[in-house]
Amino acid sequence: IQPNSVEARDIAYQMPAAADMRRHEETGSVVMERGDGIYVWDNTGKRYIEGLAGLWSVAVGFGEKRLAEVARAQMERLPYYHSFSYKTHGPSVDLAEKLIQLAPVAMSKVHFTSSGSEANDLMVKMVWYRANALGQPLKKKIIGRIKGYHGVTIAAGSITGLPRNHESFDLPLDRMVHTSCPSYVHFGQPGESEADFTARMLQDLEDLIAREGPETIAAFWGEPAMGAGGVLLPPEGYWQGVQEILRRHDILLVADEVICGFGRTGHMFACTTYGIAPDVIVLSKQLSSSYLPLSAIVMNDRVYQPIADESHRLGVFGHGFTASGHPVATAVGLENLKIIEERDLVGHVQRISPHFMDRLARLATHPLAASWRGVGLMGAVELTPWETPFTAAQTVAARMEQEGVIIRGIGEAICFCPPLIITDAQIDEMFDIATRAFDAVLAERG
Ligand code: PLP
Repeated sequence: IQPNSVEARDIAYQMPAAADMRRHEETGSVVMERGDGIYVWDNTGKRYIEGLAGLWSVAVGFGEKRLAEVARAQMERLPYYHSFSYKTHGPSVDLAEKLIQLAPVAMSKVHFTSSGSEANDLMVKMVWYRANALGQPLKKKIIGRIKGYHGVTIAAGSITGLPRNHESFDLPLDRMVHTSCPSYVHFGQPGESEADFTARMLQDLEDLIAREGPETIAAFWGEPAMGAGGVLLPPEGYWQGVQEILRRHDILLVADEVICGFGRTGHMFACTTYGIAPDVIVLSKQLSSSYLPLSAIVMNDRVYQPIADESHRLGVFGHGFTASGHPVATAVGLENLKIIEERDLVGHVQRISPHFMDRLARLATHPLAASWRGVGLMGAVELTPWETPFTAAQTVAARMEQEGVIIRGIGEAICFCPPLIITDAQIDEMFDIATRAFDAVLAERG
């Protein structure tokens, strides 16, 4: 690392995210410089396929000029305005209307925030506000799931069911409880059929509700298909069963589509893919292809009306961010959705998904691999664990990056979630490189 280089100054001045800070001080970070389509280049000129679309987010690919142009035009017209105290502007209204039109079930209102964590955190506050409005001050607990991911702020991080997001942060908050993770691959017992596994998952949920008391539980949070937990897909019948249980106990369903939304699973929303009719949909990431920070809470009347009544009683809804519904972010979000529609990227995912699945299945025949899974354009190859200083997935992920494909190793899974614009030929290129990396790791391991 050259003195005074970006790398050296990064180590000197920045505290990194999601990293071991001692390791960052020793090895530094890769400096990314530009992107185009599914590719990004670092400052040495090395090209990578972004096999995870950044962080599961750059739907339309990098370097999309239309988004840059819309951002510039909005910057020049009205770069900023807030949405406090009866002020608004065209871009946020247009995007809210669009989301209500696109929503997979009847929804009544949209409220914008800037990140998935913020949206989930605010949604927790809204659940509590609603409970007070309804005169149910005890009905405030929230059920998340083991390995579920909903962000890192205090409430969102509490609903998240991953130890690394709790440990030493004094989380979860005590109103947050977690039910089982419905990944048959990981939690199915020897000899247990998938149908029996599903029944056990549903019984676990029933038992948790009975233990806590249904009169204390306000909402259930779930990703239709879990992303950051390692692409964990629900078994047949799971969501139907969960919804039946929640209805019976008057518990709200919040579908966190921060990763799944906007075509990722082969429908505009994964709620359609899995037959989910939620009360709330939380959106971010592909909403703006992450060109600017943007997230949205889309809610039905069952959620909105009591909150509206309470704000009327109090004279104000005592919440709002400086950047809520930011005009440039919402303008970019709307243009991004126009691109997704005009290019029929949802149809594209449906057409290209069989090829993606075929390549996942072929990679899973590699001696390092144990199984594969996928939906739409996200998938994972599960590795057979072995003894190294790092996990098998960390070792393979590092080798893939060296060979020019960035993906994510989660647990023992190699997770793929490329930009939605990826072509058949680029899928082949990505998996050919992955296979080379798998071969290299196998050869080195001996
Ligand atoms: N919800 C889900 C399902 C996510 O995958 C993520 C991020 O990966 C979040 C929420 C948090 O979003 P953010 O990182 O924008 O706070």
